[in-house]
Amino acid sequence: MLQLYIPLNFLGVIYREIKQSLADMERLFSLLDQHREVADSPDAQPLVTHGGRVAFSHVDFSYESKRQILFDVDFTIPAGTTTAVVGHSGSGKSTLSRLLFRFYDVNAGAISIDGQDIRSITQESLRAHIGIVPQDTVLFNDTIEYNIAYGRPGARREDIVAAARAASIHDFIETLPDGYATMVGERGLKLSGGEKQRVAIARTLLKNPAILIFDEATSALDSKAEQAIQAQLKEIAKNRTTLVIAHRLSTIADAQQILVLDHGRIVERGTHQSLLAADGLYKQMWERQQARKDEELASPPVEVEQ
Ligand code: ADP
Ligand code: MG
Repeated sequence: MLQLYIPLNFLGVIYREIKQSLADMERLFSLLDQHREVADSPDAQPLVTHGGRVAFSHVDFSYESKRQILFDVDFTIPAGTTTAVVGHSGSGKSTLSRLLFRFYDVNAGAISIDGQDIRSITQESLRAHIGIVPQDTVLFNDTIEYNIAYGRPGARREDIVAAARAASIHDFIETLPDGYATMVGERGLKLSGGEKQRVAIARTLLKNPAILIFDEATSALDSKAEQAIQAQLKEIAKNRTTLVIAHRLSTIADAQQILVLDHGRIVERGTHQSLLAADGLYKQMWERQQARKDEELASPPVEVEQ
């Protein structure tokens, strides 16, 4: 009996571990596109942040040897400020966020946080200091509480509720049949794009990272829902070092720094006002979006929910 009991108990532990790692893998795969190309260096140290100043220093990068994606990308995000990156689709914007999260290593140059080259620090500590709010949040098939607490494993209930309140999702959760214990995700209650986004915001608030990345994939939200979310993103970006990849330029007009990326090169940089005055690519993009906005006002888009 004893012999049987021990392995079964052991299996229970393993099972829980597998379940946990599957959840991790789900998250990892959705984020990483299954890339695991970097490893900790043998003497990797944990990242120590003092506000989280991010520096890309003359970065070249290619996914495949034949095709270079980034060319001599050089910029600094002072601690606690927001830098937005704009540019046409395929110009390399999301690649910048993947490199900062160190899904890949640069081919030349370096990326550092508060003076520490990210290749010299542990990946675990790097990722613990960076929060990503994607527009297309994937929820785990688990409770809504689990989905929020994922930002900080072992978080206390009151902290989870505080984060949910700050992300304006608490009142909604209270109306659900099982409240915080309601199952969500593919096999549970399906949430709208905006609700999922708020869950992601609550998760990030709970994680409380020094550095934030928003990759605003073109959203299916109507402009009213988008504005509400933008206001919240702005709120959580306060006093954090933030890299925003912007599709709608109107959402980043007050960023301290805007970088215009074109075919993997920074071709313009400045504030919204200085870039408009420079009368270059940014101004063209801005005018094109303003024209589209006028069309939208004439026939507003409908919110799409899956
Ligand atoms: P953006 O976010 O500006 O639309 P990305 O940074 O996603 O652009 O992509 C920049 C370029 O890199 C594109 O040409 C894209 O096709 C290419 N690319 C992106 N991911 C990969 C990958 N995993 N393997 C090879 N090429 C990729
Ligand atoms: Mg992108």
